[in-house]
Amino acid sequence: MAHPLFDIGGRTALVTGSSRGIGLALAWGLAEAGCTVVLNGRDPDRLAKAAAELPGEVHTAAFDVTDGPSVAAGIADVEARVGPLDILVNNAGMQLRAPLLEFTDTDWHRIIDTNLTSAFLVGREAARGMTARGHGKIVNICSLQSEVARPGIAPYAATKGALKMLTKGMCADWGPHGIQVNGLGPGYIETELTQPLVDDPEFSTWVRRRTPAGRWGRTRDLVGGVLFLASPAADFVSGQVLYVDGGMTSVL
Ligand code: NDP
Repeated sequence: MAHPLFDIGGRTALVTGSSRGIGLALAWGLAEAGCTVVLNGRDPDRLAKAAAELPGEVHTAAFDVTDGPSVAAGIADVEARVGPLDILVNNAGMQLRAPLLEFTDTDWHRIIDTNLTSAFLVGREAARGMTARGHGKIVNICSLQSEVARPGIAPYAATKGALKMLTKGMCADWGPHGIQVNGLGPGYIETELTQPLVDDPEFSTWVRRRTPAGRWGRTRDLVGGVLFLASPAADFVSGQVLYVDGGMTSVL
């Protein structure tokens, strides 16, 4: 039997960007742990298909996490329909790779909105109820790029570095109200987002050589970290980023 400190059965968890990839795997893990799970993304049909495969009680909430009014309406709808949120995982994100000199203003605003503004908007709306109730767990999906940059990825790294600091700021503001806010920083994980890199033999080999674990990460590798950060075992852990990267951020 699992230690009671890791028991999160019966909690309600919203995972943004959980129609596929990392978000779907995290939602799956939370459902397996006994949570009532709410899947989010922009496409209701895709969400319905994903929800049909998950175990346990699963709901869907289609809204665009970059749009303030949609987020406010989406969170209010989830709390009315499903119940008060205990756990929020801010996972929705995107990647755009291009040299900075070729990066357009439009793409800059798009990536900032999707990876950073979204966590502020969804976090703020979820925290309204959490602060009033005096408890809640928020996990922001950061990246190894919160710590290190690579050529062609500066705007993405900027969003993930800022998300790390937003995590610490949320911890400072909402900690006194019983909310713990942490980040989880994945290394290179095989998903749709990284498919072009997985398919590039040179890059793929570089990832394996550069990672002490000697392989790409799988979405399932990230589940344990989120379950821990969402559980009572992490009640005195806040403002931290847990890197789940096969050791990559720790070596030169
Ligand atoms: P995917 O591209 O596979 O999935 C992205 C998810 O975000 C989809 O469910 C998508 O849903 C959703 N999404 C995107 N934009 C919005 C939006 N505006 N509103 C609502 N939902 C949105 O990415 P990954 O699973 O690979 O990545 C998930 C997170 O993990 C991201 O934050 C990413 O930066 C981070 N990460 C990923 C790494 C990796 O190696 N894969 C490494 C480090 C961090 P839909 O399109 O249906 O709306």
